Amino acid sequence: MKKIIILFGPPGSGKGTQASLIASNFNFSIFDTGKYIEQIVHAPENLKNKNIRRERENFDSGILNSPFWVLNILKEKTSVFSRAGLSIIFTGSPRTLYEAFGDSGQMGLVKFLEKSYGKKNIHFVYLNISPETSIWRNSHRKICVTCSAPILYKKRAPQVCPFCGSPVRQRSLDKPEIIKVRLKEYKERTFPIIERLKKAGYKINFIDGEKPPYIIYKNIISKLKLNDG
Ligand SMILES: [Zn+2]
Repeated sequence: MKKIIILFGPPGSGKGTQASLIASNFNFSIFDTGKYIEQIVHAPENLKNKNIRRERENFDSGILNSPFWVLNILKEKTSVFSRAGLSIIFTGSPRTLYEAFGDSGQMGLVKFLEKSYGKKNIHFVYLNISPETSIWRNSHRKICVTCSAPILYKKRAPQVCPFCGSPVRQRSLDKPEIIKVRLKEYKERTFPIIERLKKAGYKINFIDGEKPPYIIYKNIISKLKLNDG
């Protein structure tokens, strides 16, 4: 049975790390909206496109991309996954009420997923961390220049990627002034989705995101009963 997992949580809550763990153990495809949009807005062939230039400026300053534009991209990609019979784990969608629920003119992501996956196969997980943790983790985060693996560390950052040996770099989105914008955007525009989902009858699985990654992972699979098939 194909399934959907939607991971919510402020920047730095470990969505990417948990998505890779779940994907490799339970055969999910990861849809990382941030990474996907980054590729589109920075693609050389899109540099002169006016609409995309505006989206690029938003993206690079930490402001969420236009919900209408993002929702179209999301649904397009999602139907490709769905037709291929794949389970998907989302790490950066939906980010706004509009992306989640749409309006009278456009169906939102949640309804769209219900149609192709069935309501009972859609699971929501919220990785909860404090604003302080979010800022600390983002300002210390590095990623691999080759395989984009997030590099976790406690006291000192490794200088090379533990997976492929490439150098690591800081993401431009993780500069302190940009993190503040991202956190504010998250609080004001993404968090309200949770209440609407509860009203729509969905259970939100809250998980303590301050714990070490392997504990968080165990808690997610036990809450979602992934081991039971
Ligand atoms: Zn690497």
